[in-house]
Amino acid sequence: MAFKFFKKKTENIIPGRVSTGKEELFCYGFDASSAEGAPSAVVRPVSTEEVSEVAAFAFNTDTPIVPRGAGTGMTGGAVPLKGAVILSLEGMNRIIDIDAKNMVAIVEPGVINSHLQERLEDVDLFYPPDPASMKFCTLGGNVAENAGGPRAIKYGVTKDYVLGLETVLPDGRVLMTGGRTFKGVVGYDLTRLLVGSEGTLGIITKIFLKVLPMPEATVTLLCTYSHIEDAAQTVSKITSSSIIPRTLEFMDHESIMAVENYKSFGLPVNAEALLLIEVDGQHSAVSEEAEKIASICTSFNGNVSIAEDMFSKQRIWEARRAVSPALYHIRPTKINEDIVVPRGRIPEMLRAIREIAEKNKLIIANFGHAGDGNIHVNIMTDKNDVEEYGRAKDSVKDIFEATLKLNGTISGEHGVGLSKKQFVGMELSDVSIEIMKKIKNVFDPKGILNPGKIFPD
Ligand SMILES: Cc1cc2nc3c(=O)[nH]c(=O)nc-3n(C[C@H](O)[C@H](O)[C@H](O)COP(=O)(O)OP(=O)(O)OC[C@H]3O[C@@H](n4cnc5c(N)ncnc54)[C@H](O)[C@@H]3O)c2cc1C
Repeated sequence: MAFKFFKKKTENIIPGRVSTGKEELFCYGFDASSAEGAPSAVVRPVSTEEVSEVAAFAFNTDTPIVPRGAGTGMTGGAVPLKGAVILSLEGMNRIIDIDAKNMVAIVEPGVINSHLQERLEDVDLFYPPDPASMKFCTLGGNVAENAGGPRAIKYGVTKDYVLGLETVLPDGRVLMTGGRTFKGVVGYDLTRLLVGSEGTLGIITKIFLKVLPMPEATVTLLCTYSHIEDAAQTVSKITSSSIIPRTLEFMDHESIMAVENYKSFGLPVNAEALLLIEVDGQHSAVSEEAEKIASICTSFNGNVSIAEDMFSKQRIWEARRAVSPALYHIRPTKINEDIVVPRGRIPEMLRAIREIAEKNKLIIANFGHAGDGNIHVNIMTDKNDVEEYGRAKDSVKDIFEATLKLNGTISGEHGVGLSKKQFVGMELSDVSIEIMKKIKNVFDPKGILNPGKIFPD
């Protein structure tokens, strides 16, 4: 009843942009995790004022709302619980300003990451955070998840580029934090607090991003290995050398095979592992750096090839970005974790994962941002095979235990959302959880914004 009233009222605020049709509700009920929900309405505001009015109305009527970008999240963050209303930011997709003089871009949250990248390239500027989903995820979602990507090893993650935010609070008030300056220490750093808050503290409506000059040159190397340990040792050696590559990506045999069976990119199917490495910078320096990296790779029995032209570079990256969808060809259900360990401990972590896979008789494919110690661990299974799915779910805890034993963290970039909330207590102390809950309560005293996420039940 309350939801019907909500629809009627919000129709007045944003006429024609409120839906309750079955098909549409179905489409907004899930994201890229295996979680599902059923929203009672989808509202699509196109301005901060509209977001503010919808939020104020939700607050006054105790209606739960869930901010949503493109729904590519891996942990169920945008999945509505208890019939919550989806507040889709996809229509707020304007690049408001590219201020080349001050190296700042100002965008609305619904801008697709790669659209900004392309616009910046036209004026020789560069926005480094490049999640593999960059062609379809939104910058609002990137900020809410503090997304990373292959280039994080050299350039950092989303939080390193967010200078300021405009955020609508759950009661409709508009909060401005930070802005166009590269520095600012007046009061607590609320911008940093909002980055990575997974849509639980406020609705981000404007983003001020730092941008960089486009590097002059990039060299792309592909290095294949017959033994996975050699690839892992290469990663440790490179990350402790004097060169910081722009990317240092890893794929194991299962991931290589999945990609080649999905679409033939010409990856070496006999390889046990491969590394995709890029260096960038000034013309004069990059060839020398690439040579040094290549010699480290060969010293660990790697077989190195260099992408000669733009086409080969793009093809290699297309193959890397295809891993996630390609894995569904191994088994229909994927439990995808994104653990991080200190970089030098990658060999131990990969060994631990192999043992867990053998113990539980499962296929586990690994790939990811090895340069950051961030491994995407994909347990391949079938939800309909109850017994195997049970073993797959049990192995998640084993993987997290092994990660924490190596001083790692259970999520490097996908966040907690729904799928990791029952494991949060394995990593965070009671004091941390208590403080976080109190912060949530200050921003959202009625608990109407994205309820049921992050905190263990
Ligand atoms: C194939 C594939 C590859 C991926 N690769 C990477 C990768 O390399 N690195 C990485 O970090 N992630 C990766 N991801 C995960 C995902 O793309 C990122 O988490 C991304 O940032 C989510 O953006 P989105 O627009 O889809 O957000 P959604 O999924 O719609 O939402 C994610 C969370 O953000 C909140 N949210 C969204 N917009 C707002 C807003 N305006 N204000 C407040 N809260 C908001 C939602 O409530 C939700 O909690 C990948 C996903 C896929 C499917």
